Amino acid sequence: MAGEPQADCLFCKVVTGEVPATLVRETETTVAFRDINPQAPTHVLIVPRVHYPDAASLAAAEPQIAADLLVAAGEVAAQEKVDGTGFRIVFNTGTGAGQTVFHAHAHLLGGRGLNWPPG
Ligand code: AMP
Ligand code: ZN
Repeated sequence: MAGEPQADCLFCKVVTGEVPATLVRETETTVAFRDINPQAPTHVLIVPRVHYPDAASLAAAEPQIAADLLVAAGEVAAQEKVDGTGFRIVFNTGTGAGQTVFHAHAHLLGGRGLNWPPG
C-alpha cells in the first residue's frame, strides 16, 4: 500500500530507529536528523514517517504531510539559527539530480554562503 514502510529502505529504518541517526526534531509525521556527510555547517534531512520514493509522489498522495515537511524544515532552520542568514531546502529527485535514497527527504542547508545556480 502507498506510504507503507519498505524493508530495504534506509530512511524507513532511521524512522523506526533500526538505523541510528542524530535526531534534531520529531513531529507526528516527520523526523529530522543530521546528514552523515554534511555539505554545509547545518545540513539536516527532514523525512516523512511514511514511505514515498520522492517529494513529488509524497505531495501527490499526501499533500498535508508534504506541507508538514516544509513546516518542519522551517522549524529546524529556526532551531539551528540559520533562519536569519538564509538557508536552502533541496529535494533531489531522480538519479540524474543526485538522488541516492529513494525515500522522500528535504535537505536543509545553511550556515555558509550558498551559490545560485547550484551545481
Ligand atoms: P540524496 O542524494 O538527495 O538522495 O540524499 C541522501 C543523503 O543521505 C546524502 O546527503 C547522504 O549523505 C545522506 N545519508 C546517507 N546515509 C545516511 C545515514 N545513515 N544517516 C544520515 N544521512 C545519510
Ligand atoms: Zn522508506
